Amino acid sequence: MSVIRKSNKLINVCYDIRGPVLQEAKRLEEEGQRIIKLNIGNPAPFGFDAPEEIVQDVIYNLPSAQGYCDSKGLFSARKAVMQECQKNGIRNVAIEDIYLGNGVSELIVMATQGLLNDNDELLIPAPDYPLWTAAASLAGGNPVHYLCDEQKGWAPDVDDIRSKITERTKGIVVINPNNPTGAVYPEAVLRQIISLAEEFGLIVFADEIYDKITYNGARHIPLASLSDDILCITFNGLSKTYRAAGFRSGWMVMTGPKHHARDYIEGLEMLASMRLCANVPAQHAIQTALGGYQSINELTVPGGRLHDQCELAWRKLNEIPGVSCVKPQGALYLFARLDPEVYPIKNDEKMALDLLQQQKVLIVQGSGFNVPDTQHFRLVFLPREDELCEAIDRIAAFLKNYSQE
Ligand code: PLP
Repeated sequence: MSVIRKSNKLINVCYDIRGPVLQEAKRLEEEGQRIIKLNIGNPAPFGFDAPEEIVQDVIYNLPSAQGYCDSKGLFSARKAVMQECQKNGIRNVAIEDIYLGNGVSELIVMATQGLLNDNDELLIPAPDYPLWTAAASLAGGNPVHYLCDEQKGWAPDVDDIRSKITERTKGIVVINPNNPTGAVYPEAVLRQIISLAEEFGLIVFADEIYDKITYNGARHIPLASLSDDILCITFNGLSKTYRAAGFRSGWMVMTGPKHHARDYIEGLEMLASMRLCANVPAQHAIQTALGGYQSINELTVPGGRLHDQCELAWRKLNEIPGVSCVKPQGALYLFARLDPEVYPIKNDEKMALDLLQQQKVLIVQGSGFNVPDTQHFRLVFLPREDELCEAIDRIAAFLKNYSQE
């Protein structure tokens, strides 16, 4: 029989968070080994349950959620998203500007498929949440990475963004609060990005899925609340703030001069129709999630698990000789740097694999987030304090004797 190959569309598509190192972790688990998993931002398995009232809403509505719904989503859920926009200072949002999806992931794929022609460029941060890069490539576009500056708390380097704009550039992706760095961007930086978008007629994709997960007084500012003059799509969902990643429920909201984007909107509506609709039972959770008690706020203040685990993991990582880490202001991750003088890492995927095999700790190497070096790695601080301490102690023990020379 002839060999069956993947399509050429997939040749440049890469998604390392679930790549070869994870495969090895699965193999070790099948052998009966215990792996400490610090690789994926999935709150529920770490005891961060979704608010009971949203679970109950899904159960209550399940019998009436058997059919397809409108391809853009249930009216009540979209209305709730609209009101959330109003609360957040995002103006002029109508129901038809809101699209519900099977998680933000599906909407990222739709937004990029609908926008990019072959070789069109999309500016994406480095480090990034790599689905953006994968989705841009899958759509036939070229992901072009702009730098975020570790020395400046991982803020986007706006001069670098400007220097990378060409006549093929279609848009800029802004992930704020950021995965993997935990940065929360200052208003001035957001305004500079908006100015660039206005000057060059670019769409901004604002991925704000961690908007309510901020620490120590950091304030998230919705990018779309700062301008009515650029076309912006804001992404958010139930996976992180409401700890319901398995529900696969997210939304995107288009704002700004929509009359300039009629053709793109037609494309998005077609893509939404082609997948018929998003998972209907989970849409019943959205209204209660957004309108109800925001239990996430208990987790992000001192004494709350997310806050305390972040502090602990950050402090312990920085205690390892040759390891430094910018303190996260938001999200669920630490993006640590290995001093190249102490640990000259040539291949960071190999390092992640060696750590897994030697110490049974699963992290994701920095190159999985499209950074231009091999000196970083990301870990999630979702496990409880004792497990986090054990994991970071094991990372320290691993690094003590590690060399790729
Ligand atoms: N955007 C960012 C920045 C993320 O970190 C994630 C998940 O980790 C997603 C989007 C995907 O979220 P969802 O579960 O809604 O597909």
